[in-house]
Amino acid sequence: MTEAPDSALATALAAGLAPWFEASHRDLTWRRTADPYAIWVSEIMLQQTRVETVERYYADFLARFPTVEALADAEQSEVLEAWSGLGYYRRARLLHKGAQHVRDTFGGTVPGDGASLLGVPGIGKYTAGAIASIAFDKPQPLVDGNVARVLSRVCGIDEPKQQDATAKGHWRLTEAILTRGRPRVLAQALMELGATVCTPKSPRCEACPIRDHCNALATGRTATIPAPRKKVAQPLDRLCALAVVSRKRLLMIKRPATGLLASMWCLPLVTDEDGPTELGTVFEDAEVIDRWSRVGAVRHVFTHRIWELSVCRANVPKRPALALTGEVAWVSPGDRPPGGIPSVTTKLLNAAGF
Ligand code: SF4
Repeated sequence: MTEAPDSALATALAAGLAPWFEASHRDLTWRRTADPYAIWVSEIMLQQTRVETVERYYADFLARFPTVEALADAEQSEVLEAWSGLGYYRRARLLHKGAQHVRDTFGGTVPGDGASLLGVPGIGKYTAGAIASIAFDKPQPLVDGNVARVLSRVCGIDEPKQQDATAKGHWRLTEAILTRGRPRVLAQALMELGATVCTPKSPRCEACPIRDHCNALATGRTATIPAPRKKVAQPLDRLCALAVVSRKRLLMIKRPATGLLASMWCLPLVTDEDGPTELGTVFEDAEVIDRWSRVGAVRHVFTHRIWELSVCRANVPKRPALALTGEVAWVSPGDRPPGGIPSVTTKLLNAAGF
């Protein structure tokens, strides 16, 4: 039988990666468990989020929802509350839905095969590979940005499309690597190498366990592979956050169930043209509040857009009639409504003096 072209390379990479990972990996909380549910939670939390940030939330989240059933049976507001501050809340809603799917379809046991995992809401190809390989020790490939960068450099790929995490060649080579040892170790080793050694800028090639097999290093191209991305300007929204205080209580609103910060508590937001406008979307009679003072400014960067918010405060003796249709709350200083408070809301409350 003729071996696939990746075969010898995969064998060499696996031989370098496994002992290196065993000897020098970071001691991260989610690496101390083999519980597929706990590993699933960690993989979802780690999407677009720094390891240090996840470390601050992970143990508390699992203490609050220790099993698939506990998470599945919880109210969405409880899940969002535990997720508060981690950002990118769609992940939390999908994780919650995913837990309900696993409870209802698999009796609460996380499946170990790729096809079943891919049927779980919120689990895509990468997460399915991470759960199957790390929790079940199966050679199910996984390629994220870190792995794609390592393999692009090792293989000396200079075509930008073939450098992406979606490139078929990366998935094929990763699968070949995972079959040449313990998938649990090799999958994490690839990710760890990308996160700690083969970093985007200035990779530490002298400390790399697979440097003898790296084409980019041999050809002096570690700085140009992968190709630097052109920065895309993020859309910017200029808004005014209304801090309406009546009898020492602050008006907060629950945002709509879809869109940015869905179902999360925030201050009412209107457009800002050197002061709040479109007040009719918030108050039945906007005239009742005629004096706003600007008390602060907040800038918040989401994954794909930026908000620049001025915070305008008005103190009114009588609670105004509202034109809002969703849930509202009048909260005392220091209090928070039940459910999730995203970090942008925390910034706004601080700016408003609450
Ligand atoms: S030798 Fe350098 S560029 Fe190549 S995989 Fe290792 S760290 Fe990355």
